[in-house]
Amino acid sequence: MKLEESITKYLERNRIDRLAPKAVLFDMDGVLYDSMPRHAKAWKGVCDEAGIEADADEFFAYEGRTGASTIDILIRRQFGRGATEEECRSLYKRKTELFAEQPKAPVMHGAQGAVGAVARAGAVSVLVTGSGQGSLLERLDDDFGGAFAKDRRVTAYDVRRGKPDPEPYLVGLAKAGAMPTEGVGVDNAPLGVESASRAGLFTIGVRTGPLKPGSLLEAGADIELESMEECERALERIFRLAPEAQTNA
Ligand code: MG
Repeated sequence: MKLEESITKYLERNRIDRLAPKAVLFDMDGVLYDSMPRHAKAWKGVCDEAGIEADADEFFAYEGRTGASTIDILIRRQFGRGATEEECRSLYKRKTELFAEQPKAPVMHGAQGAVGAVARAGAVSVLVTGSGQGSLLERLDDDFGGAFAKDRRVTAYDVRRGKPDPEPYLVGLAKAGAMPTEGVGVDNAPLGVESASRAGLFTIGVRTGPLKPGSLLEAGADIELESMEECERALERIFRLAPEAQTNA
């Protein structure tokens, strides 16, 4: 589907006549940082050690779940019973260790351009992540030129219900002082896309990992793109189409 067509559908669905975003809400893992392959590798390592058969690619589909929920899926499939609290604790601890042992995750190609497009249009960027991982959060200022002010970040510590509940994106909108129809959400995971879409945002699904084509549209994305470079171009186009941008041009 073309961008214009997906915007028209969004406007009709929300009974509004224009999309003029004040804020763009970005997920972190798999959107701003190319960190998902490291998470998948760490999970696969835990499974190998624990005698659980798993495919590294499957962890891209679980992104956004709590560690305990992912461990429960794996244990049920392998052993036909739920995971114990002790298994959840020890396997998740091990996963965190295996993640930390890997080299630093690079900034996602095109992410700085996409965040730059928001600033150039006079809108604000907001972080909406389920992660509480200090090693990436601490790098945001340096890597994104201060675009994610501390009071415009939603992390694991700011919400009671994580994605796919709409709460994280709704909290992000509140931090930006924007209504749902004044925001655009950018997420790479099915559960994240569902969260943004349920919050009422125009939702860009960016398929930066090995998910099946169309899986982000199925999760509720208004449009599915394949890279953050494409996302930058889409954001530029959205802002160009916005009435304010036209008058300022
Ligand atoms: Mg993500």
